[in-house]
Amino acid sequence: MAYRIAIVGLGKIATDQHLPCIAKNRKFKLVATVSRNATHPDVSHFTSLAELIQSKTPVDAVALCTPPSVRLQMALQALDAGFHVLIEKPPTPTIGELFAMQAYAKKKKRVLYATWHSRMNEAVEEAKRRLKGKHVTLLKITWREDVRHWHPGQEWIWEPGGFGVFDPGINALSILTHIMPREIFVDQATIEVPANKATPIAAQIKFKHGDGQAADLSADFDWRQTGTQTWQIEMTTSDGMKLNLLKGGTVLEINGKVVLEAPMEEYELIYKHFAKLLKAGKSDVDAAPLQLVCDCFMLGKPTLVEKFE
Ligand code: NAP
Repeated sequence: MAYRIAIVGLGKIATDQHLPCIAKNRKFKLVATVSRNATHPDVSHFTSLAELIQSKTPVDAVALCTPPSVRLQMALQALDAGFHVLIEKPPTPTIGELFAMQAYAKKKKRVLYATWHSRMNEAVEEAKRRLKGKHVTLLKITWREDVRHWHPGQEWIWEPGGFGVFDPGINALSILTHIMPREIFVDQATIEVPANKATPIAAQIKFKHGDGQAADLSADFDWRQTGTQTWQIEMTTSDGMKLNLLKGGTVLEINGKVVLEAPMEEYELIYKHFAKLLKAGKSDVDAAPLQLVCDCFMLGKPTLVEKFE
């Protein structure tokens, strides 16, 4: 029998990815949507999660596609109602909220899947295999995109808890924390915040190895790039391997040669993995990418830059 799923927050990512991927996965059946504004023509629609719960519509799981700042309360409500929960990235605005959500899911014996869509690429898995046991001496993340194109009209990204440029930047960090052969840490960061906004439009980060071994490890996030978009992670290891993950983690180059180019199926793979987790009754929550973002805010030097309209 298919898992009955409801989508909460019918915005860009729910419409672009969750709805079509649920529709083509036989292990799920969309039974309801929740949004204060948008509706869905084919299933029951509610304007709040509380309304969905009160309706007694049979639901096995919810996908929370709202901004991170409102997810904890929604997740607790959903878990109280006995639903399993899938959440978009970034999971929560703080680490404390993520740990609270994780603990509550455990207490309620429900599955919590905190997704990291950029990890769901075969090229990312291959990069992880290639880096195993090696020592990274150079890391250069370049994650530059056009905020007007990817977040049209979205105000929440500029509000506290909206992450600003760390909303896409955390995608790079989710790949990084997955493929790095050992943990790295934030050393220093510069965070550029427009004079009329609460969240950063750009950030430059320096990382370090925990044991102090010399390495040049950096990330450059920028939301002001128009034209060609850049989502790239370059690495060099102490034995001379040059690894380059391009196009958001879909293309892997080793020593200048493309060794793997996988189709973009991130959300198809998310729902495949969610079905496995539900069957096994297991949660999947990794706080590592969020921890790095929190550490950037903790150690970062804020700089005011020109207003962004
Ligand atoms: P969006 O287009 O603004 O959609 C967010 C949805 O959440 C809206 O449907 C809105 O619905 C609902 N919502 C907003 N504020 C709310 C509140 N205070 N209470 C309840 N519902 C609220 O944003 P999005 O781009 O889909 O992003 C949502 C999440 O997906 C983010 O965490 C983002 O990082 C992630 N994501 C986005 C993309 C992308 O390409 N945009 C890609 C991957 C992941 P109503 O106002 O109708 O209730």
